[in-house]
Amino acid sequence: MIVIQKCLACDRWQHPGRPICLTCGDAENLGDAPVTGNGNVDSFTVVHRAAAPYIVARIRLVEGPIVLGHLADNPEPRCDQPVRFVHRDPLPVWIPGHHHPPSTRSR
Ligand SMILES: [Zn+2]
Repeated sequence: MIVIQKCLACDRWQHPGRPICLTCGDAENLGDAPVTGNGNVDSFTVVHRAAAPYIVARIRLVEGPIVLGHLADNPEPRCDQPVRFVHRDPLPVWIPGHHHPPSTRSR
């Protein structure tokens, strides 16, 4: 499960987490809330400075926030590709997934 900071005063997601809400300035109603783990590739790069190349991607969660992660099992990554979060030893990864794009996104 992934949790992302959310401001309950203005109902906005915020990542990375901060001591105050950057939207409304509230500091008393910030908390971590679970997200679905579904998102879409926003952009990516292939890192060749390792024994085997790997992909680092910006993932736009269906809830709106953008996170960085390792894209796995994905020989042909592309922007807007649906992905989902899974726990895999030793590190969690994002793998191709199927979900309906959000019709509305909260920030
Ligand atoms: Zn707020």
